[in-house]
Amino acid sequence: MRLTLLGTGDAVGTPKIGCNCPACEDARNGGKSQRLRSSILVESDKGKILIDTSPDLRQQFLKQNLSCIDGVIWTHGHYDHYSGFGEFYRVQNKVDVYGVRETLEYINRYVSFLKPRYHYVKLYEPFELIGLQFTLFKVNHPPVEVPAGVVIREGNKKIVITGDTNSEIPEASLELMKNPDLLIADAIVPPNIHIKKHMNSEEAMALAEQLNAKEVALTHLSHLFRPHHIEALFLPLGYDGQVFEF
Ligand SMILES: [Zn+2]
Ligand SMILES: [Zn+2]
Ligand SMILES: [Zn+2]
Repeated sequence: MRLTLLGTGDAVGTPKIGCNCPACEDARNGGKSQRLRSSILVESDKGKILIDTSPDLRQQFLKQNLSCIDGVIWTHGHYDHYSGFGEFYRVQNKVDVYGVRETLEYINRYVSFLKPRYHYVKLYEPFELIGLQFTLFKVNHPPVEVPAGVVIREGNKKIVITGDTNSEIPEASLELMKNPDLLIADAIVPPNIHIKKHMNSEEAMALAEQLNAKEVALTHLSHLFRPHHIEALFLPLGYDGQVFEF
């Protein structure tokens, strides 16, 4: 299986509109601080699944030369994770979408004109798509009712995507997340800042250690980090277009 981080930015992306901080300047100069909003592409030899549909989806499809996907998994109903679904208009009809009932019903208010094919998924119950096994687990992202992370398995390989979450993840989820080959973790801000809805980079790294993750990619990154080429000397920051193969 192959994963591509299509967007590693937070809800506003980097550069942030109107901001001239060092990371935003680096982004404007074409550096790796440039971050689109959240989407991850998962590929197997049988197909392509998208985890979340970034508001920057059109750009991401064009950059990756993507034309058609086999399904979308939504982690939760926040603008930066679903609103790009409208980009399928007149491109791909009746897309299969997967997620917990609360998330799909919420997002349906915005995307019903596209008539997606809804597949309601239960937390902690594995389902198969494109020959890979996916399992959604509950995380903690107030005030979202049922925010989900995703475990992907193929043979003995295991990838864990935290989705948007703070560090208070339910015990049953932590059990499921153990020993991943790759952990893709929400780390919106540097350690000196604390945000109720998200982990900072220190909390994300502590989670990686607790789970015994072989490899880590921090994502959902805000412009408050130093420019990528500096910060990446100290932290495993993900970047747009980064590919992982297993
Ligand atoms: Zn988000
Ligand atoms: Zn900035
Ligand atoms: Zn969110």
